Amino acid sequence: MPLDRDAKKWLKHRFGQHIKFDEPMSKHTYFRIGGTADAYLVPPDRKDLIELIQWAKQRQQPYLVIGDGTNLLVRDAGIRGLVIALTKCLNHITCTEWRKKKAVVSAMAGAKLQALCKFAIKSGLAGMNFAIGIPGTVGGGIMMNAGTAKGSIGDVLDSIEVLLPDGQAVRIGKEKLDFEYRNLSLKKREDLEAEGKPIILEGRFQLWHSDAGYLKKEAQELLNIRKKTQPTNYPCAGCFFKNPPAGKTAGELIELAGLKGKRIGGAEVSTKHANYIINSGNATASDVIALMEMVQKIVSQTFNIELKPEVKIVGPQV
Ligand SMILES: Cc1cc2nc3c(=O)[nH]c(=O)nc-3n(C[C@H](O)[C@H](O)[C@H](O)COP(=O)(O)OP(=O)(O)OC[C@H]3O[C@@H](n4cnc5c(N)ncnc54)[C@H](O)[C@@H]3O)c2cc1C
Repeated sequence: MPLDRDAKKWLKHRFGQHIKFDEPMSKHTYFRIGGTADAYLVPPDRKDLIELIQWAKQRQQPYLVIGDGTNLLVRDAGIRGLVIALTKCLNHITCTEWRKKKAVVSAMAGAKLQALCKFAIKSGLAGMNFAIGIPGTVGGGIMMNAGTAKGSIGDVLDSIEVLLPDGQAVRIGKEKLDFEYRNLSLKKREDLEAEGKPIILEGRFQLWHSDAGYLKKEAQELLNIRKKTQPTNYPCAGCFFKNPPAGKTAGELIELAGLKGKRIGGAEVSTKHANYIINSGNATASDVIALMEMVQKIVSQTFNIELKPEVKIVGPQV
């Protein structure tokens, strides 16, 4: 639902410099693609975020919470309603428990995942190195169950704190979370007593004591591998498709189907890593979606395997 005049007036009055209207989402996604959001808001603190969410619920105003936009493709028609980024109001990382063998680190949703990895290394805590080099925020990482062949968020997450649409914050333990491949869902939705997707405020991670020097060296080695195998010079959203549950990876299938380097408009299947679709210059979301559909069609015809996007495609289809 687009924002009406009254809504815009209240938002401007309440959030002043923290809100931008008709904001190009290309500025807030790693793909550097996307039409405008009716309003883009970065609440300055948690209290403001809660007030905003309560206001949105009262008005039935839709909103999309994002992190760093590293896994987002925003359609060319943009996003109606509010886009909310938590990078200002929730960016603290701290150690909340320090035991003999283990420690619990609490990271707020808007903190960078890489800041959490560095915090763990500096504190001599093992468990986060699987995420070295994954861009984005802790909240986005939890929602996506971000990971690599070395592990994923679900392996180390102990609990999350979420904000419900009525403004209530609740903690949910790991036992009530379902971590799937690049996705988190809640096992018992009735626990939440509310409709709508909850906003992740914080994650608590169970890590274990190790040697900071060893962890630093391991992290550097993992970063070097990433640099060698992944395209780093072009805007993109990381791996575009989920790997099929068994057999060859999405990248292998795309490469075997002869699709490396295929282009539509400014969108290109990377020649370095076939599961990356890159914005090689002035690509539109329509270019990327057309290329995605072409890849899906050819892989399906060649191998009878349906590739599903890992990237979240948002905004209305026109
Ligand atoms: C170069 C590159 C390399 C990458 N490599 C990897 C990799 O190795 N492994 C991997 O798993 N991913 C990888 N990614 C993808 C991406 O970095 C991850 O999915 C990341 O965790 C997304 O975080 P984000 O903060 O950018 O989330 P966004 O892209 O902003 O959002 C992702 C989803 O999470 C939701 N969301 C975000 N924050 C919240 C919140 N606080 N509450 C509720 N919902 C929220 C959004 O609505 C959206 O649906 C890569 C991306 C790039 C560009």
